[in-house]
Amino acid sequence: MADQCLFCRIASGEIPATIIAQSARCVAFRDINPQAPVHALVIPREHVTSLNTLTDGGLFGEMSLLAAQVAKDAGVAESGWRLVANTGHDGGQSVFHVHVHVLGGRPLRWPPG
Ligand code: AMP
Repeated sequence: MADQCLFCRIASGEIPATIIAQSARCVAFRDINPQAPVHALVIPREHVTSLNTLTDGGLFGEMSLLAAQVAKDAGVAESGWRLVANTGHDGGQSVFHVHVHVLGGRPLRWPPG
């Protein structure tokens, strides 16, 4: 755990969040500033800064499976949803603990901004 990392503190329960799903190594919770009717984040419990430094492909697989479960539970699996991993400054990453966004519940434009 990185002491000052917001998402480490959410994963440990130190900072409250609306947890909607969990797996052995990952936690899913609602985004505090939703950009779509369904907007959740999936993070690993362990601190990894971004996809640039993630070396455990199995962990990314577990994040992806939990994201798909969140989409199913939210009822958007059939209508469609998007998995987003903002990475680095130009990618729009603002929290440097690797995470994926689960977005759905409305038609999503492409390309993103
Ligand atoms: P990114 O910009 O890809 O790094 O995404 C970070 C996301 O974390 C943003 O969508 C924020 O709205 C979200 N966020 C920041 N603080 C919290 C929090 N305390 N609880 C839930 N989501 C948060």
